[in-house]
Order: sequence, then C-alpha cells, then structure tokens
Amino acid sequence: MPHPKTERTLVIVKPDGIQRALIGEILKRYERIGLKLVALKMFVPTEKMIEEHYLLDSEWKKNVGEKAISSYEKKGETPPSNDPIEVGNLVVERLKKYMTSGPVIAMVWEGAHAVELVRKITGGTEPRSASIGTIRGDFVLDSYQMADTADRAIRNLIHASGTVSEAEKEIPHWFGSKEVISYKVPHEATLYDDDIHSIIR
Ligand code: GDP
Ligand code: MG
Repeated sequence: MPHPKTERTLVIVKPDGIQRALIGEILKRYERIGLKLVALKMFVPTEKMIEEHYLLDSEWKKNVGEKAISSYEKKGETPPSNDPIEVGNLVVERLKKYMTSGPVIAMVWEGAHAVELVRKITGGTEPRSASIGTIRGDFVLDSYQMADTADRAIRNLIHASGTVSEAEKEIPHWFGSKEVISYKVPHEATLYDDDIHSIIR
C-alpha cells in the first residue's frame, strides 16, 4: 500500500471565490496544515468540462438529487420533481451556468489524508450551515433557500473532491500527468519521518 502522504485531491476555487478576492486566503488554509501544492492553473471552464466533471462519479447525480429533494422538503416546499435523477440534472444545469461564469483556479493538493482534510477545512456544502472555522463557514453566507428560489447553484467558493475515488477521477479530468509535479519540501521530514533527529547541534 502506498504511504498516506501520497494521497492527492482536487480543489477548484469557483468563480465567486476569485470575485471575492479570496485566492490567497483559500490557498493559505490548505498550505498551513502541511499539504503540498502539486498543480495549479487558472482558466474559464467550458460547460462540457463541467458536465463531465460532475458525471465522473455515476452515483453523484442521484445522491445530489436526493439531497436537494430533502432540502426542499425541509423548507416545507415541493421539489421540482420527486425523481432524484431529474433533480440531479437540474443541479448539473445550474452548476454549468455557475462554473462557466468566470475564471476559476484548479489545483491539486498532496499529503496524508488530503481528501478528508481538505473537505474538513472547506466545510459543508451549504455556507449557511457550514461550521465556523471552515472556509465556507467563515467567508460566505449562501443557503439552499436562496439558491433554490433563484434557480441557481449554491455559491460556496470551492469545489473539493468528496472521496479518494472521486479525486482519482477528477485530477486527470483537469490536469495532464505532466502538469502535476512530484517534488519534495523540507518540512515533510518533520511531518512524516519515523524519527525526528539531527535538530540539536
Ligand atoms: P460539494 O461536494 O460540497 O461541493 O457538494 P455536491 O457535490 O453535493 O454538489 C456540488 C455543488 O452543487 C455544490 O457545491 C453546490 O454548488 C451545488 N449544489 C449541490 N446541491 C445543491 C442544491 O440542493 N441546490 C442548489 N441550488 N445547489 C446545489
Ligand atoms: Mg461533491
């Protein structure tokens, strides 16, 4: 089994993250925990790339549809359909509009438990209920209520892979193998070596 330090995850700073001038703040939060940035680029995504991205995981559309239906029901509203796939399609359409509205920054972060830790730092999908201390909880205030009423995607600043298998599909979707760089940084010895030695002279 490969060492956990080789785990990689995909992060995209969404168009609202760039508009809010939060690039540095967001990078800082992943960097300071000890993760290593191994790929980075800025571009305006096409609708095709966004649609393909969200359909890489065959279960995602159904899951997001179920989540959306229950959020409508929680508000006491009738969902646009009771079929999770149909509601999932609606979310994909909203995401295509949102994610192609301006430049984004895509990156790959590497380090132990990268997928789980990046999700923890990023926070829950809905900024309104995301925990304080997370990026989505600290820097934005959107809600299912506002987004669904306006027929748009939740504006939550960031995409982050949800699972290791999602990350393994999403990284090659956005980056060629030569764009992801394997290199070392000195602090990895303190984070990962079995013994810390040669500090005192
Ligand atoms: P994430 O992994 O936390 O980003 O959430 P998902 O993978 O479930 O959904 C992808 C993105 O679709 C979210 O980040 C939101 O921008 C948007 N989204 C998801 N669910 C809903 C919903 O029920 N309503 C609306 N308006 N947007 C949603
Ligand atoms: Mg997701």
